[in-house]
Amino acid sequence: MNKLNDDCIFCKIIKNEIPSIVVYEDDDVKAFLDISQVTPGHTLVIPKTHVQNVFEYSDELGATIFSRIPKIAKAIKSSDKNIKGMNICQNNGKLAYQSVMHSHIHLVPRYTAEDGFSMTWADNTDKYTSEKLQSIADNIKNNLED
Ligand code: AMP
Ligand code: ZN
Repeated sequence: MNKLNDDCIFCKIIKNEIPSIVVYEDDDVKAFLDISQVTPGHTLVIPKTHVQNVFEYSDELGATIFSRIPKIAKAIKSSDKNIKGMNICQNNGKLAYQSVMHSHIHLVPRYTAEDGFSMTWADNTDKYTSEKLQSIADNIKNNLED
């Protein structure tokens, strides 16, 4: 049984209490156009259960939602010959730019280098020794759950 939240805008979209432009839907997942359309075809994929972010996913929920991404991504790409690539991203937590606290995956088709989407990250390669990298990896590995 899917758990929804009465106060959540995306749960309302799941229940069709507020409108959305749907591109794909099944028992577990809904995909609809992002209202902001960073680029044309910008789509959100959401689980039909209220989870805030990836840290609340079970393995099963992760498998369910991520398994739908290739099908939807390929359909978006096929819908316009001018689409040359796609950024797929998920913001988890306010600091990581999440504004709607119902987990969602952005599919942003890319047309040109100046199409409105950008992403930057620092290159700190010079600051990390292999020992430091190994210690970071060991710490992460020690926190893997079964
Ligand atoms: P994020 O910042 O990753 O939480 O992204 C939330 C996204 O939800 C933004 O890109 C918004 O444009 C989008 N959004 C908010 N409300 C709606 C809505 N009613 N229908 C479609 N997209 C929405
Ligand atoms: Zn919700």
